[in-house]
Amino acid sequence: MLGLLFLLLPVAMGYGWFMGRNSVKQNDHSATQELSIKYSTGLNYLFSNQQDKAIDYLLEALKVEDDTVEAHFAMANLFRRRGELDRALKVHEHLVRQKHLPNSAKQQAVFELAKDFLSAGLYDRAEAMFHKLLKSKIYGLKSLSSLMKIYQSTKDWQQGIALKKAIAKTRDTKLLHTLANFYCELATLALEKDEFIEVIELLDNALSHDPNSSRANWLMAQIYENHQQYNEACQCYKAIYEQDKEFFPDVIDKMFICYQALDAEEEFFQFIRKVYEETGATSALIKYLSHIEQVKGVNQAKKFILTALNRRPTIRGFKYFVKMQMNDGESENTSENLEVIRELVSAYLNVKHRYSCRSCGFNSSTHYWSCPSCHDWEQLKPIRGLDGE
Ligand SMILES: [Zn+2]
Repeated sequence: MLGLLFLLLPVAMGYGWFMGRNSVKQNDHSATQELSIKYSTGLNYLFSNQQDKAIDYLLEALKVEDDTVEAHFAMANLFRRRGELDRALKVHEHLVRQKHLPNSAKQQAVFELAKDFLSAGLYDRAEAMFHKLLKSKIYGLKSLSSLMKIYQSTKDWQQGIALKKAIAKTRDTKLLHTLANFYCELATLALEKDEFIEVIELLDNALSHDPNSSRANWLMAQIYENHQQYNEACQCYKAIYEQDKEFFPDVIDKMFICYQALDAEEEFFQFIRKVYEETGATSALIKYLSHIEQVKGVNQAKKFILTALNRRPTIRGFKYFVKMQMNDGESENTSENLEVIRELVSAYLNVKHRYSCRSCGFNSSTHYWSCPSCHDWEQLKPIRGLDGE
């Protein structure tokens, strides 16, 4: 009750100002009297703990003028922050009904009402409100962004893609990135049905809106690989390296399969060596070590890994080092000890997350294209550092 009184303070202040101003105008005397009755009735309801009725009367008592509109918004926002959405809705609907408000306040009222509907999970009503604001200079971008969030929650990828012209006009990189991922979602469905042309077209669209979408190239590589077009698949994987070096360790094994199919392993290992030198990624190191072992022998591989671990120690690198020692024909006793160490290291790594979201820090052992916590796209990447890459 006291809390609500505090919340209604801006209304009461606005009312006081309004009544004071109007008291000097004799012609408005009867109107003022009527408002005064509504105000008293509102307060009576408030004190008898009938808060919703109190709000109805107080809203009517406080005529929305240019000078009091901010007090209304402040009150509604306080209601929303307290989780009292029905009350916030009531105030914002009241504001939307005011015909005489300046355009900016009208748009603000519609936008805030849309946010109330969104918070209440009434997506269709929020969607209708946000659509009304698409041409607004102040709320156009925010409304587009909210609409894309709605379509992401409801998986209405086509609806989001229908906004592509409006999104392209904004040149907003985050929105373009989201749009590209909507195309990728449709491409994933088409990929499951092996619709080659459809997948390529959708992914071309994704890349035209966001050339940095590594997911688009990742999917493109899958469809090419499924159709034995390994050269094209390799180009896509190389493009991913240019787009997103932090995500790249996850594609190394798939890339290797394509190079093997082309009988071009030498070229692959040259590329992987470059990746290792530029990024220090442990996945690249381990892949390259297998090549050194095969071509130059175990001793050269051991020298290489020792230098690498000195330069940049990681648990996965250490595990591989232990495995190399085990394969080296050590005495039975030493082999058993090494096996214990290897098992301990494996157990340690098994409880560590492989991915972290670069936007919000969410950790996961599974990869998601959209972060389950902050819902940003393509932000889950292999963890760097001692426990990761
Ligand atoms: Zn996140």
